[in-house]
Amino acid sequence: GHKIVTVGELLVEFISHTKGCALERIGEFSGPYPSGAPAIFLDQASRMGAETEMFGGVGDDGFGRLLLERLRADGVGTEGVSVLPDRSTGTAFVSYYDDGSRDFIFHLANTAADSLSFTAEMLPPGPLALHVSAASLGSAPLRRAILSAADAVKGSGGKITCDPNARPQLMQDDEARGALERILGQADCLMPSTSDLDHLYPGLDEAAAIDRLVHSGAEILAIKRGAKGATIIGDGAKYDLPGHDVDEVDPTGAGDCFCGTFVALLAQGVGLEEAGRQANAAGAIAVTRRGPMEGNSGPSQISAFLSSTPAVSD
Ligand code: ADP
Repeated sequence: GHKIVTVGELLVEFISHTKGCALERIGEFSGPYPSGAPAIFLDQASRMGAETEMFGGVGDDGFGRLLLERLRADGVGTEGVSVLPDRSTGTAFVSYYDDGSRDFIFHLANTAADSLSFTAEMLPPGPLALHVSAASLGSAPLRRAILSAADAVKGSGGKITCDPNARPQLMQDDEARGALERILGQADCLMPSTSDLDHLYPGLDEAAAIDRLVHSGAEILAIKRGAKGATIIGDGAKYDLPGHDVDEVDPTGAGDCFCGTFVALLAQGVGLEEAGRQANAAGAIAVTRRGPMEGNSGPSQISAFLSSTPAVSD
Protein backbone atom coordinates (compact mmCIF):
# COMPACT_ATOMS: atom_id res chain seq x y z
CA GLY A 1 0.00 0.00 0.00
CA HIS A 2 0.86 3.68 0.04
CA LYS A 3 3.07 5.11 2.76
CA ILE A 4 1.14 7.90 4.47
CA VAL A 5 2.97 11.18 5.12
CA THR A 6 2.04 14.50 6.69
CA VAL A 7 3.83 17.85 6.66
CA GLY A 8 2.73 20.12 9.47
CA GLU A 9 2.76 21.30 13.05
CA LEU A 10 3.78 19.37 16.14
CA LEU A 11 2.90 20.86 19.52
CA VAL A 12 2.05 20.02 23.08
CA GLU A 13 -1.27 21.03 24.61
CA PHE A 14 -2.23 22.02 28.17
CA ILE A 15 -5.87 21.50 29.12
CA SER A 16 -7.71 23.41 31.83
CA HIS A 17 -9.16 21.42 34.72
CA THR A 18 -12.00 23.86 35.26
CA LYS A 19 -14.78 24.02 32.69
CA GLY A 20 -16.14 27.40 31.69
CA CYS A 21 -13.16 29.36 32.96
CA ALA A 22 -11.34 32.02 30.92
CA LEU A 23 -7.78 30.99 30.10
CA GLU A 24 -6.27 33.87 32.06
CA ARG A 25 -8.01 32.75 35.27
CA ILE A 26 -7.15 29.09 35.18
CA GLY A 27 -5.12 27.84 38.11
CA GLU A 28 -4.41 24.32 36.99
CA PHE A 29 -3.78 22.74 33.65
CA SER A 30 -3.09 19.13 32.82
CA GLY A 31 -0.51 18.26 30.23
CA PRO A 32 1.71 18.36 28.28
CA TYR A 33 -0.31 16.26 25.81
CA PRO A 34 1.18 15.50 22.37
CA SER A 35 -0.85 17.32 19.70
CA GLY A 36 -1.03 18.93 16.28
CA ALA A 37 -3.69 17.76 13.83
CA PRO A 38 -1.22 16.17 11.36
CA ALA A 39 0.46 14.32 14.24
CA ILE A 40 -2.82 13.05 15.74
CA PHE A 41 -3.88 11.87 12.28
CA LEU A 42 -0.60 10.09 11.56
CA ASP A 43 -0.34 8.50 15.01
CA GLN A 44 -3.79 6.99 14.49
CA ALA A 45 -2.95 5.84 10.94
CA SER A 46 0.14 4.09 12.28
CA ARG A 47 -1.83 2.43 15.07
CA MET A 48 -4.16 1.11 12.36
CA GLY A 49 -1.23 -0.62 10.66
CA ALA A 50 -0.23 1.90 7.98
CA GLU A 51 3.38 2.79 7.17
CA THR A 52 3.85 6.47 8.02
CA GLU A 53 6.32 9.33 8.11
CA MET A 54 5.91 12.79 9.61
CA PHE A 55 7.64 15.98 8.44
CA GLY A 56 7.74 18.78 10.97
CA GLY A 57 9.86 20.44 13.62
CA VAL A 58 10.33 20.27 17.38
CA GLY A 59 12.67 22.13 19.72
CA ASP A 60 15.62 20.54 21.49
CA ASP A 61 13.61 20.46 24.72
CA GLY A 62 11.48 18.18 26.88
CA PHE A 63 8.27 18.85 24.93
CA GLY A 64 10.01 17.94 21.67
CA ARG A 65 11.35 14.73 23.23
CA LEU A 66 7.86 13.85 24.49
CA LEU A 67 6.43 14.23 20.97
CA LEU A 68 9.18 12.15 19.36
CA GLU A 69 8.87 9.43 22.02
CA ARG A 70 5.11 9.13 21.59
CA LEU A 71 5.21 9.06 17.79
CA ARG A 72 8.00 6.47 17.77
CA ALA A 73 6.25 4.32 20.37
CA ASP A 74 3.19 4.23 18.12
CA GLY A 75 5.28 3.32 15.07
CA VAL A 76 5.27 6.69 13.24
CA GLY A 77 8.39 7.32 11.14
CA THR A 78 10.11 10.42 12.57
CA GLU A 79 13.15 10.79 10.28
CA GLY A 80 11.37 13.78 8.74
CA VAL A 81 11.04 15.56 12.10
CA SER A 82 13.85 18.10 12.55
CA VAL A 83 15.05 18.96 16.04
CA LEU A 84 15.76 22.69 15.81
CA PRO A 85 18.40 23.89 18.29
CA ASP A 86 17.31 27.55 18.26
CA ARG A 87 13.52 27.16 18.48
CA SER A 88 11.25 25.88 21.21
CA THR A 89 8.48 23.32 20.66
CA GLY A 90 5.06 24.74 19.80
CA THR A 91 2.48 24.88 22.61
CA ALA A 92 -1.24 25.50 23.06
CA PHE A 93 -3.46 26.13 26.08
CA VAL A 94 -7.13 25.21 25.92
CA SER A 95 -10.21 25.86 28.02
CA TYR A 96 -13.59 24.15 27.60
CA TYR A 97 -17.05 25.65 28.01
CA ASP A 98 -20.32 23.90 28.85
CA ASP A 99 -21.79 24.51 25.38
CA GLY A 100 -18.95 22.43 23.92
CA SER A 101 -16.97 25.43 22.63
CA ARG A 102 -13.25 25.80 23.25
CA ASP A 103 -10.88 28.70 23.70
CA PHE A 104 -7.23 28.33 22.61
CA ILE A 105 -4.05 30.30 23.06
CA PHE A 106 -1.48 29.03 20.52
CA HIS A 107 2.26 29.60 20.48
CA LEU A 108 3.19 28.30 17.04
CA ALA A 109 4.51 31.25 15.00
CA ASN A 110 8.32 31.40 15.16
CA THR A 111 8.49 28.17 17.16
CA ALA A 112 9.78 24.85 15.85
CA ALA A 113 6.17 24.07 14.84
CA ASP A 114 6.34 26.30 11.77
CA SER A 115 10.09 26.42 11.14
CA LEU A 116 10.61 23.08 9.45
CA SER A 117 13.36 22.75 6.86
CA PHE A 118 11.33 20.71 4.36
CA THR A 119 12.08 20.19 0.70
CA ALA A 120 10.28 17.73 -1.54
CA GLU A 121 13.56 15.78 -2.04
CA MET A 122 13.17 14.65 1.56
CA LEU A 123 10.07 12.60 0.72
CA PRO A 124 10.69 8.84 0.91
CA PRO A 125 10.66 6.69 -2.26
CA GLY A 126 7.72 4.48 -3.22
CA PRO A 127 3.99 5.20 -3.50
CA LEU A 128 2.93 8.00 -1.13
CA ALA A 129 -0.34 9.38 0.18
CA LEU A 130 0.02 12.93 1.54
CA HIS A 131 -2.59 13.98 4.09
CA VAL A 132 -3.23 17.72 4.41
CA SER A 133 -4.91 19.14 7.46
CA ALA A 134 -6.13 22.49 6.17
CA ALA A 135 -5.48 24.39 9.41
CA SER A 136 -1.73 24.02 8.72
CA LEU A 137 -2.21 26.18 5.59
CA GLY A 138 -2.68 29.25 7.81
CA SER A 139 1.08 29.37 8.45
CA ALA A 140 3.18 30.71 5.53
CA PRO A 141 6.19 28.40 6.04
CA LEU A 142 3.98 25.32 6.46
CA ARG A 143 1.87 26.33 3.47
CA ARG A 144 4.95 26.51 1.21
CA ALA A 145 6.16 23.12 2.43
CA ILE A 146 2.75 21.47 2.03
CA LEU A 147 2.14 22.84 -1.47
CA SER A 148 5.53 21.63 -2.66
CA ALA A 149 4.95 18.21 -1.06
CA ALA A 150 1.53 17.99 -2.74
CA ASP A 151 2.98 18.80 -6.17
CA ALA A 152 5.73 16.21 -5.72
CA VAL A 153 3.35 13.50 -4.50
CA LYS A 154 0.83 14.19 -7.27
CA GLY A 155 3.67 14.34 -9.82
CA SER A 156 4.88 10.87 -8.82
CA GLY A 157 1.39 9.38 -9.13
CA GLY A 158 0.63 9.37 -5.40
CA LYS A 159 -2.55 10.31 -3.57
CA ILE A 160 -3.66 13.42 -1.69
CA THR A 161 -6.13 13.18 1.19
CA CYS A 162 -7.43 16.28 2.95
CA ASP A 163 -9.34 17.33 6.04
CA PRO A 164 -10.55 20.77 4.92
CA ASN A 165 -11.07 22.07 8.46
CA ALA A 166 -12.13 25.43 7.09
CA ARG A 167 -12.35 27.62 10.18
CA PRO A 168 -13.64 31.15 9.34
CA GLN A 169 -10.26 32.68 10.27
CA LEU A 170 -8.54 30.46 7.70
CA MET A 171 -11.08 31.25 5.00
CA GLN A 172 -10.58 35.01 5.47
CA ASP A 173 -6.86 34.67 4.77
CA ASP A 174 -6.54 34.92 0.96
CA GLU A 175 -3.27 33.00 0.79
CA ALA A 176 -4.56 30.19 2.98
CA ARG A 177 -7.81 30.02 1.09
CA GLY A 178 -6.00 29.92 -2.24
CA ALA A 179 -3.76 27.11 -1.00
CA LEU A 180 -6.78 25.16 0.26
CA GLU A 181 -8.50 25.54 -3.09
CA ARG A 182 -5.43 24.20 -4.82
CA ILE A 183 -5.28 21.19 -2.48
CA LEU A 184 -9.02 20.56 -2.94
CA GLY A 185 -8.36 20.40 -6.69
CA GLN A 186 -5.56 17.86 -6.21
CA ALA A 187 -7.23 15.70 -3.56
CA ASP A 188 -8.37 12.14 -4.20
CA CYS A 189 -10.14 11.85 -0.84
CA LEU A 190 -11.81 14.67 1.11
CA MET A 191 -13.07 14.37 4.68
CA PRO A 192 -14.96 17.54 5.66
CA SER A 193 -17.17 17.94 8.72
CA THR A 194 -20.63 19.42 8.15
CA SER A 195 -19.43 22.78 9.51
CA ASP A 196 -16.52 22.73 7.04
CA LEU A 197 -19.08 22.46 4.23
CA ASP A 198 -20.84 25.58 5.58
CA HIS A 199 -17.58 27.54 5.74
CA LEU A 200 -16.39 26.37 2.31
CA TYR A 201 -19.66 27.05 0.53
CA PRO A 202 -21.72 29.54 2.56
CA GLY A 203 -25.38 29.50 1.58
CA LEU A 204 -25.25 26.17 -0.27
CA ASP A 205 -27.18 23.23 1.13
CA GLU A 206 -25.31 20.03 1.87
CA ALA A 207 -26.17 18.24 -1.38
CA ALA A 208 -24.99 21.22 -3.46
CA ALA A 209 -21.78 21.54 -1.40
CA ILE A 210 -21.04 17.83 -1.86
CA ASP A 211 -21.65 18.23 -5.57
CA ARG A 212 -19.02 20.98 -5.71
CA LEU A 213 -16.48 18.80 -3.93
CA VAL A 214 -17.14 15.87 -6.25
CA HIS A 215 -16.65 18.17 -9.24
CA SER A 216 -13.33 19.37 -7.83
CA GLY A 217 -12.09 15.85 -8.60
CA ALA A 218 -12.19 13.86 -5.34
CA GLU A 219 -13.21 10.24 -5.84
CA ILE A 220 -13.92 9.56 -2.18
CA LEU A 221 -15.76 11.78 0.29
CA ALA A 222 -16.28 11.22 4.00
CA ILE A 223 -18.67 13.70 5.63
CA LYS A 224 -18.12 13.83 9.41
CA ARG A 225 -21.28 14.51 11.42
CA GLY A 226 -20.06 14.60 15.03
CA ALA A 227 -22.40 12.60 17.30
CA LYS A 228 -24.53 11.76 14.24
CA GLY A 229 -21.76 9.66 12.65
CA ALA A 230 -20.59 9.97 9.06
CA THR A 231 -21.50 9.53 5.40
CA ILE A 232 -19.11 7.88 2.95
CA ILE A 233 -19.46 8.51 -0.78
CA GLY A 234 -17.42 6.76 -3.48
CA ASP A 235 -17.36 3.96 -6.07
CA GLY A 236 -20.87 5.02 -7.11
CA ALA A 237 -22.24 4.24 -3.63
CA LYS A 238 -23.23 6.16 -0.51
CA TYR A 239 -23.08 4.77 3.03
CA ASP A 240 -24.82 6.56 5.90
CA LEU A 241 -23.19 5.43 9.11
CA PRO A 242 -25.10 6.39 12.28
CA GLY A 243 -23.19 7.66 15.33
CA HIS A 244 -22.39 5.75 18.51
CA ASP A 245 -23.91 6.85 21.79
CA VAL A 246 -20.96 7.79 24.01
CA ASP A 247 -20.19 10.36 26.73
CA GLU A 248 -18.27 13.19 25.09
CA VAL A 249 -15.40 14.21 27.38
CA ASP A 250 -13.10 15.97 24.91
CA PRO A 251 -13.92 16.42 21.20
CA THR A 252 -10.37 17.54 20.29
CA GLY A 253 -8.80 15.13 17.85
CA ALA A 254 -11.93 13.13 16.94
CA GLY A 255 -11.89 14.33 13.35
CA ASP A 256 -8.16 13.62 12.94
CA CYS A 257 -8.63 10.20 14.49
CA PHE A 258 -11.54 9.47 12.12
CA CYS A 259 -9.44 10.53 9.11
CA GLY A 260 -6.35 8.62 10.25
CA THR A 261 -8.35 5.42 10.62
CA PHE A 262 -10.16 5.84 7.31
CA VAL A 263 -7.07 6.62 5.22
CA ALA A 264 -4.96 3.89 6.88
CA LEU A 265 -7.58 1.25 6.12
CA LEU A 266 -8.06 2.41 2.52
CA ALA A 267 -4.26 2.29 2.04
CA GLN A 268 -4.38 -1.35 3.17
CA GLY A 269 -7.12 -2.26 0.70
CA VAL A 270 -10.12 -2.25 3.07
CA GLY A 271 -13.44 -1.33 1.36
CA LEU A 272 -15.08 2.07 1.78
CA GLU A 273 -17.98 0.97 3.98
CA GLU A 274 -15.84 -1.06 6.40
CA ALA A 275 -13.17 1.67 6.56
CA GLY A 276 -15.93 4.19 7.33
CA ARG A 277 -17.47 1.94 9.98
CA GLN A 278 -14.16 1.62 11.83
CA ALA A 279 -13.33 5.33 11.40
CA ASN A 280 -16.72 6.22 12.86
CA ALA A 281 -15.98 4.00 15.87
CA ALA A 282 -12.47 5.47 16.24
CA GLY A 283 -13.94 9.01 16.29
CA ALA A 284 -16.48 8.00 18.95
CA ILE A 285 -13.78 6.40 21.12
CA ALA A 286 -11.64 9.53 20.75
CA VAL A 287 -14.24 11.87 22.28
CA THR A 288 -14.51 9.74 25.44
CA ARG A 289 -10.91 10.48 26.49
CA ARG A 290 -9.32 13.71 27.63
CA GLY A 291 -6.35 14.88 25.54
CA PRO A 292 -5.95 15.43 21.80
CA MET A 293 -4.09 12.18 20.98
CA GLU A 294 -5.01 10.19 24.08
CA GLY A 295 -8.21 8.95 22.45
CA ASN A 296 -6.37 7.28 19.58
CA SER A 297 -6.90 3.53 19.43
CA GLY A 298 -5.83 0.39 17.58
CA PRO A 299 -7.72 -2.38 15.76
CA SER A 300 -8.42 -4.49 18.86
CA GLN A 301 -9.96 -1.55 20.77
CA ILE A 302 -12.05 -0.63 17.74
CA SER A 303 -13.41 -4.12 17.24
CA ALA A 304 -14.19 -4.44 20.98
CA PHE A 305 -15.99 -1.08 20.82
CA LEU A 306 -17.97 -2.04 17.72
CA SER A 307 -19.20 -5.25 19.32
CA SER A 308 -20.17 -3.55 22.61
CA THR A 309 -21.52 -0.14 21.48
CA PRO A 310 -24.08 -0.36 18.67
CA ALA A 311 -24.50 2.62 16.35
CA VAL A 312 -27.79 4.50 16.80
CA SER A 313 -29.59 6.75 14.34
CA ASP A 314 -30.66 9.78 16.44
P1 ADP B 1 -14.22 17.31 13.37
O1 ADP B 1 -13.50 16.96 14.67
O2 ADP B 1 -13.33 17.22 12.16
O3 ADP B 1 -15.00 18.59 13.45
P2 ADP B 1 -16.53 15.62 14.00
O4 ADP B 1 -16.80 16.45 15.19
O5 ADP B 1 -17.63 15.38 13.04
O6 ADP B 1 -15.28 16.15 13.14
O7 ADP B 1 -16.00 14.21 14.54
C1 ADP B 1 -15.41 13.25 13.70
C2 ADP B 1 -16.03 11.90 13.89
O8 ADP B 1 -15.88 11.46 15.24
C3 ADP B 1 -17.54 11.86 13.61
O9 ADP B 1 -17.78 11.65 12.24
C4 ADP B 1 -17.94 10.65 14.45
O10 ADP B 1 -17.57 9.44 13.80
C5 ADP B 1 -17.06 10.79 15.69
N1 ADP B 1 -17.69 11.62 16.74
C6 ADP B 1 -17.46 12.93 17.00
N2 ADP B 1 -18.21 13.36 18.04
C7 ADP B 1 -18.90 12.30 18.47
C8 ADP B 1 -19.86 12.07 19.54
N3 ADP B 1 -20.21 13.04 20.39
N4 ADP B 1 -20.39 10.84 19.66
C9 ADP B 1 -20.04 9.84 18.82
N5 ADP B 1 -19.15 9.98 17.81
C10 ADP B 1 -18.58 11.18 17.63
